[in-house]
Amino acid sequence: MILDEEHVMMQKVFRDFAESEFTPELQERLDTTGEFDWDMHKEMAKYGFMGARIPEEYGGQGGDTLTYVLMMEEFARVCPVLAIYPNTPNSLGGGPIMACGTEEQKKKYIPLIATGKKKLCFALTEPGAGSDAGGTTTKAVADGDDFIINGRKTFISGAPVSDYAVVYAKTDPTQKGSKGISMFIVDLKLPGVSFGKPEKKMGINGYPTSDIVFDDVRVSKNDLLGPLHNGFSTAMKTLGIGRLGVSAQALGIAQGCLEAAVKHAKEREQFGRPLAKFQAISFMLADMATEITLARELIYNTAVEFDAGKDVAAKLSMCKYFTTEMSNRVAYKAVQIHGGYGYIKDYPVERMYRDARITTLYEGTSQIQQLVIARSLLK
Ligand SMILES: Cc1cc2nc3c(=O)[nH]c(=O)nc-3n(C[C@H](O)[C@H](O)[C@H](O)COP(=O)(O)OP(=O)(O)OC[C@H]3O[C@@H](n4cnc5c(N)ncnc54)[C@H](O)[C@@H]3O)c2cc1C
Repeated sequence: MILDEEHVMMQKVFRDFAESEFTPELQERLDTTGEFDWDMHKEMAKYGFMGARIPEEYGGQGGDTLTYVLMMEEFARVCPVLAIYPNTPNSLGGGPIMACGTEEQKKKYIPLIATGKKKLCFALTEPGAGSDAGGTTTKAVADGDDFIINGRKTFISGAPVSDYAVVYAKTDPTQKGSKGISMFIVDLKLPGVSFGKPEKKMGINGYPTSDIVFDDVRVSKNDLLGPLHNGFSTAMKTLGIGRLGVSAQALGIAQGCLEAAVKHAKEREQFGRPLAKFQAISFMLADMATEITLARELIYNTAVEFDAGKDVAAKLSMCKYFTTEMSNRVAYKAVQIHGGYGYIKDYPVERMYRDARITTLYEGTSQIQQLVIARSLLK
């Protein structure tokens, strides 16, 4: 796709920011400690990245979905975990509130997260309800003007550092599967909320992931988000944006891996010539570049179609499925081209390889994307 001037300019802003701010020292610290970097969060907020695709009237930058995709790609090209920092408010955090919230809720929460003053996480998965998210057992029971929430959410990105969570809970146990589920905005400082220990993960270290436990947490009915008993399907219709975000994250990882592999193949000599001169290596690079180009075209086009209001539900799943699997193939080859050095932490492909792995898992596994694509064909 030919980008217009404004998108080319934004792409450069994102690239320059990532290359100057995501220093190797910062990346190593995040990877080894797993701790959230509040200074970087503040810095990104200062540039408006937290509200990149949130409308200006709610404190955001009012950018389109293509701009958001470019941001995710450019940030992940240098450091995949730091791409998640501005991703959450623009997709799964702010998304459900923008899509389903009342004007009052939007005014109360969106400006806070669009400017990075507060953080909001997305709490759907449970120990017994992952791909089968309709199997949610967390309950919210009406009590006068309030709801009382009990249950446990697992693998919640950013939970320990967040102020609020969008929580899915069963409000009508007589209804099966995804029916009878409602969404709530829960203040995580409320009595009865506690967190599990941050998980020790293979990759994307620097964005803590933990359980959230709700023990008789009383929320006001004003914090019910979207329709009662029908929050799940309402939200799912609007959450495709998260799939696009992860696709762009995977695309950025693949691009970063390709660039590192090209550099290494040109510099490293064996048998008296650079690795790049061996056809087996150069053909691997050609395959990597071809797959990346295909993914980029698909993602950019889908972003534009998304904003144009086209029905892109199946395409979003194709983006997520193809790009995240592609990213893993590319990262694998990048390590292979680096030989033994690719297994050593001093080389960025080692971390990129680990970071790529999550992309086929979260926000719907590859198999769930295949189900969605197949369903669209066979309906
Ligand atoms: C680091 C990390 C961050 C996360 N962040 C969040 C977050 O912020 N918020 C949140 O709510 N969740 C989050 N998740 C949860 C994530 O979305 C789930 O892990 C994911 O949806 C898969 O669910 P599961 O782990 O229970 O696997 P399972 O559902 O048990 O799946 C196991 C395997 O079976 C396959 N499978 C399952 N059902 C089918 C089927 N019908 N047909 C074919 N194959 C199938 C899956 O594809 C997978 O290969 C996160 C997870 C991780 C690891």
